[in-house]
Amino acid sequence: MKQRQQNQFILNQILPFAFLGIILLTLFWYVFWISPKEVPPATPDESLSDTSPKVRGIIAIVIDDFGYRNDVVSEGFLDLDARLTYAVIPGHENSQSFAKNAQNVGYEVIIHMPMESHVASKGEAEYRLMTEMTSAEIEEVTERAFSHLPQAIGMNNHQGSKATEDPRVMRVVSDVLLRHQSYFVDSRTTSNTIAQRVMDKAMVPNIRRHVFLDNDFDPGLIYKQLNELALLAEEQGMAVGIGHVKKETLHVLKEEIPKMKEQGFQFRFVSEIINQELQRH
Ligand SMILES: [Zn+2]
Repeated sequence: MKQRQQNQFILNQILPFAFLGIILLTLFWYVFWISPKEVPPATPDESLSDTSPKVRGIIAIVIDDFGYRNDVVSEGFLDLDARLTYAVIPGHENSQSFAKNAQNVGYEVIIHMPMESHVASKGEAEYRLMTEMTSAEIEEVTERAFSHLPQAIGMNNHQGSKATEDPRVMRVVSDVLLRHQSYFVDSRTTSNTIAQRVMDKAMVPNIRRHVFLDNDFDPGLIYKQLNELALLAEEQGMAVGIGHVKKETLHVLKEEIPKMKEQGFQFRFVSEIINQELQRH
């Protein structure tokens, strides 16, 4: 009788606790020994540390048409706190002095090469690449632009809807760029441009413009375009925008660049974005 009572006691009181104990031990063992552990990064990355926000996208902005003016607007661009790329038209009154100043302050300088457009345009005749020119003439004019602006480490096209559709013109330009170890940004003033195809073939580092910031000089629209550029940078990792040396563009960039940096966007020179893309592919 006593024995039976003891057995009953074991069954009713001890066994459930024993089961619970086994389950808890198993759980403990699983959580601490078997479940995957977080691996600490091998090398801590400064840009991803807790003190700065996560990188949301990388942005390159090119500002076109420097050279015409020397005033509060062109000066204002030399005060913007970001790595920006300034495209200078060769041959204007302030082209050489601006390129020199911009490089001294720490911005990247490229040649904003005048090229033939489908619509008639005036000015820059001395430097404009025309499709009717001989290859020797195209080469001579492009070389002259590099001698005029020795700070330049790249080139983009000013207008050029006709010239960037012409494989021969772009091939001669690519030879000169290769000789100067310079890159090309296709401003994409025509959807029929073959510039990047020619540059790829010639092994000239190149990239395209994704967003025009100020086709319309309304600050609201410039802000909208800048936002579009940021969204694209977030979506594809990087994006290239082109704006112009205009007071409205300067104003919007001055206001928005600090905010965009706080939101996790990083500004880079075009050369840095091209190098990064080359490493990725
Ligand atoms: Zn231009």
